[in-house]
Amino acid sequence: MITIEQAYDIVLKNAYQLGTEKVSFTDSLGRILAEDVHSDIEMPPFDKSAMDGYACRKEDLDNPLEIVEVIPAGKTPEKKIGKNQCANIMTGAPIPEGADMVVQVELTETDDHVVKVLEVPKKDNISYQGEDVKVGTKVLDKGIKIEAQHIAVFAAVGYTDVLVYKQPNVGIISTGDELVEPQNKPSVSQIRNSNGYQLIGQVKACGAIANYIGIAEDTPEDTFNKVSKALRENDMVLLTGGVSMGSFDFVPKVLEDAGVKIDFDAIAVKPGKPTTFGMAGKKFCFGLPGNPVSSFMQFDLLVKPLIYNLMGQEYKALDIQMPMGIEFKRRNADRRAYFPIIIENGQVFPVDYHGSAHIHALSSSHGIISMEIGKKEIKKGEMVHVRQI
Ligand code: AMP
Ligand code: MG
Repeated sequence: MITIEQAYDIVLKNAYQLGTEKVSFTDSLGRILAEDVHSDIEMPPFDKSAMDGYACRKEDLDNPLEIVEVIPAGKTPEKKIGKNQCANIMTGAPIPEGADMVVQVELTETDDHVVKVLEVPKKDNISYQGEDVKVGTKVLDKGIKIEAQHIAVFAAVGYTDVLVYKQPNVGIISTGDELVEPQNKPSVSQIRNSNGYQLIGQVKACGAIANYIGIAEDTPEDTFNKVSKALRENDMVLLTGGVSMGSFDFVPKVLEDAGVKIDFDAIAVKPGKPTTFGMAGKKFCFGLPGNPVSSFMQFDLLVKPLIYNLMGQEYKALDIQMPMGIEFKRRNADRRAYFPIIIENGQVFPVDYHGSAHIHALSSSHGIISMEIGKKEIKKGEMVHVRQI
C-alpha cells in the first residue's frame, strides 16, 4: 500500500493551471492573484499629518503659538506657517508650508487662538510623501489568496480589474441508500447526508466552485449516470462512500467504467485508507471514504492542495510545533494516523474522538496532528506538528 506522501505526489504531479481571467476588484475576495500588482501613485501622495494637532516649526515649541488656519483632511492649506504660528490640523490633512512638525492635541493647551505646547512630541508626526510606496513599487505578489486587506491595496493603487486564476468546477456526489438530505428526518436505518455539504463547504473555502450533483443510490447504474454527468460538467469530481470492502461498495469499479484510470485505491493512512484517485483524461476524480471525519481529512490532505495548485498557488498548510499536554498512545502503528486536537495554554490535547464517524470531534478541534508509521506513543511534553485545518 502506498503512503500518504506518495499519494500526495501522485495527485499533485497531475496538476496543471486552468488559465486566468479578469474580475472586478470588488468580486476578487478568495481568488488567487495571477500577476504582481504595482502602484501607480506615491503613498502617501503628499506630506500629511499623522495626528490631530497643531502643525508648527520645531524651533518655536517653547513659545505660545498663534493659530492661523484650520486644515481638515481634504483641504489644501492656504497659509504659510511663520515664526510662532501654527495651524490646527487633522489626521490625513496636508502639512502647510513652513511647518516641520505636528504636536498632537493631547500635548497642548489652547486658550483663545493661542496654543501652548506642554510636552515636546517624540516624533514629528508627519507621514512623508512616498515613504510607504513609490510609483512602480510592487505592492502585492502574484499567487496570494485575496483577502480584504489586499482589496484595500487594489483600491489604493487603482487596480480595479484584477487578473486571477480560473476556479476549478468541482462536482460532488454522495453515495449510499441510507442517506437522506438534511431537511428530511431520517427513519430508522437512515442517516443524513453530511459529507455532501461538508465537501461543498471545503471546496468553497478553497475558492473553487462547488456543483452538488446529489445522492447516488447504491446501484452501479445510478452511480455511473451521476459520475458521467459530473465528469462532463466539471474539472474534478468528488464522491464519498462506496469505497470500502462491503457488497455495495463499487465506486472504484464504476469510475473505471466511466473512463477513470485509477492511480490508487488504498493509502496506508488512518482515517481514510480506501481513498481512491484517478484521472479521466485531464479531469480528476476522488472516491473519498464515507465516514465524515475520513472524508474531511482526505480532502484536506489531498484534494485541497490540488485545488490550490490548479488555481496557481502552491498550498502549504500552516504547521506549528507545540508540546503535547498528555501522553498519547495507539496500539496499531501500520498506518500514518491523524488525530483532531485542541490547544490549551500552549499545549496540545487530543479531542475526545470515537473514530471516523464522529463528526462532532472535528467541529471543536483547532487542528490535527499525526503519528508516522511505526510510532506508537507521543510522550507528554514531546513537540508535535499541529496542522491547521
Ligand atoms: P461506506 O464506505 O459507503 O460503507 O460508508 C462508510 C460509513 O460512512 C457508513 O456508516 C455510511 O453510512 C457513512 N456515510 C457514507 N456516506 C455518508 C454521508 N454522505 N454522510 C454521512 N455519513 C456517510
Ligand atoms: Mg455506502
